[in-house]
Amino acid sequence: MNETADLVSGCSSTPEPVTRLRKGCQSDVSGKGHNDNHQGEDLGPLLVASVPCSHFKKKSEEHECNNGPSQEDEGFMGMSPLLQAHHAMERMEEFVCKVWEGRWRVIPHDVLPDWLKDNDFLLHGHRPPMPSFRACFKSIFRIHTETGNIWTHLLGCVFFLCLGIFYMFRPNISFVAPLQEKVVFGLFFLGAILCLSFSWLFHTVYCHSESVSRIFSKLDYSGIALLIMGSFVPWLYYSFYCNPQPCFIYLIVICVLGIAAIIVSQWDMFATPQYRGVRAGVFLGLGLSGIIPTLHYIFSEGFLKAATIGQIGWLLLMACLYITGAALYAARIPERFFPGKCDIWFHSHQLFHIFVVAGAFVHFHGVSNLQEFRFMIGGGCSEEDAL
Ligand SMILES: [Zn+2]
Repeated sequence: MNETADLVSGCSSTPEPVTRLRKGCQSDVSGKGHNDNHQGEDLGPLLVASVPCSHFKKKSEEHECNNGPSQEDEGFMGMSPLLQAHHAMERMEEFVCKVWEGRWRVIPHDVLPDWLKDNDFLLHGHRPPMPSFRACFKSIFRIHTETGNIWTHLLGCVFFLCLGIFYMFRPNISFVAPLQEKVVFGLFFLGAILCLSFSWLFHTVYCHSESVSRIFSKLDYSGIALLIMGSFVPWLYYSFYCNPQPCFIYLIVICVLGIAAIIVSQWDMFATPQYRGVRAGVFLGLGLSGIIPTLHYIFSEGFLKAATIGQIGWLLLMACLYITGAALYAARIPERFFPGKCDIWFHSHQLFHIFVVAGAFVHFHGVSNLQEFRFMIGGGCSEEDAL
């Protein structure tokens, strides 16, 4: 009934999954003496425990898992290297079978392979490495450390998708320049939907394998940059409606900074736990670059107009939400103070996700107020309109 056995029993069959499952596992199970000895030594402490689904048999070319204790487990250490290798190979088949059928169980942090070790304050409830997309997607409906991360952004994604469709199908009569305004809002919705989709997909397939997790983590980080870039577009469009020159300059600047953030996030080290603070800093910096156009707006229009017509209050609330989310994420609060108590719910990453969805919605609310105001006063720009 040992969870570690469940995890590591997958360490020695087909060469590809083997190397992914646990560092130090030998992929060569062909019976070569050196590797087999090393393998037995490496896996010994983890393999001695019995497993619930103990023997994997082939019946008419169909794989089935049988329940019941295995005799082989008890004598594992006394086996010849060749038998050990054979035994370990059977365990791998058993592991794949269990993963395929969704019969895996959560494991503690300390037995995770290095590439799955992200937050050492989450002590238990982790998914084992599961080199099957089907198993990863089925795990969406199971309870583990990533359940909250997946659902917060999956539901957020569905919400923004519905909101986006609703907004795009609003009658043209509600806009001053329907096509332009729908493109501008469309870019915001695109950024939000891509960010949230990449995020829930990343958290779903994160445990697949090291290479898959690396690809999706890069998409996840790129999505955050896209959300920030997309958020700037409608805000700059309406705030500088009568003064397109600074609007274009700020748009170009945010695009350049956003692309730079995407390029930085393609660096392999960027996703590692040591760079957690750097990651939070890069995206916070990208978002906070909005301070310059905000100050420009306040100095040109005056604080009163900025606070009322300019919707600066909503912008500030959005900034507070993003900053709080990023700070919790970087400092790993609250799990740092309660290690092992926030493994499944309310850990920093989950809270960060909620703050991102809330921040994006607050931003949408602010820019739709700007849109309504523009509609109310019409598209014309008088001499008095500095912006
Ligand atoms: Zn995330």
